[in-house]
Amino acid sequence: MTDTHLEFAYWSVVKDLEAPADIPVSRLNAALPEFLGSTGTSAKAGAVIYNCLSDIAWDWPAWNSFAVKVGYDSLQSIATSIAKMRPAEILKSLPVAELKQLCLTRNVEQVPRATKDSLVAALLKATGKDAIQDMVLPFRRNLQEAQNQKCRKQMCFHMASRILNVAYNIHRYEQLNDPELLTLRPCWRFVWGGSTDIDAPKSCRKFNNKTLPHYEAKQVFPSLPCGYLKCGCHIAVEGGHS
Ligand SMILES: [Zn+2]
Repeated sequence: MTDTHLEFAYWSVVKDLEAPADIPVSRLNAALPEFLGSTGTSAKAGAVIYNCLSDIAWDWPAWNSFAVKVGYDSLQSIATSIAKMRPAEILKSLPVAELKQLCLTRNVEQVPRATKDSLVAALLKATGKDAIQDMVLPFRRNLQEAQNQKCRKQMCFHMASRILNVAYNIHRYEQLNDPELLTLRPCWRFVWGGSTDIDAPKSCRKFNNKTLPHYEAKQVFPSLPCGYLKCGCHIAVEGGHS
């Protein structure tokens, strides 16, 4: 696979990113050489994308349905679960030193050798119901921001591996369509790459081990990688029907 394959794959994936304001194309362009130099592992290539977008509140719509299926967080699920957190839970997520500081600034008395629980209890007791929501608001925001960053890092890793997969398949289809190969090995066999119900989108699974003449296969088989983010299917070549 060449840089041309990778470059095409890169744009085919990053074009789907969403941001409140447009993601500057110039920046994605500027990151491309470093991305191409780091495709040895998805982690490194993902880090290039992550750094490139570090100060933008971007989202990747393709991630959401995938995340629900495999049990990962999405920016949406993080927002929902953090909005549901009660003030006590937010406070408990803070380090003891920060809770002590909070007590000090709000003149809340601390028992000697205060624990996290006792500090949280003292703060809750000393603060009114409405005031407590205001008090925890900045911490709620910080918590969400920290989890968003974690989620974006994970998305970048998967984005990079998707790009590598797209590039691999562009290259693979070029090989498969080589006229000489088509003459020698005229049939394509679809090999499903999943192993569980989760990584088994029906669109690919139903073709597992199906062999067809290449001209039919091109019409019938899903083009790879399919819409499933971690599609691991491939096409093998075979001799003619016996
Ligand atoms: Zn697939």
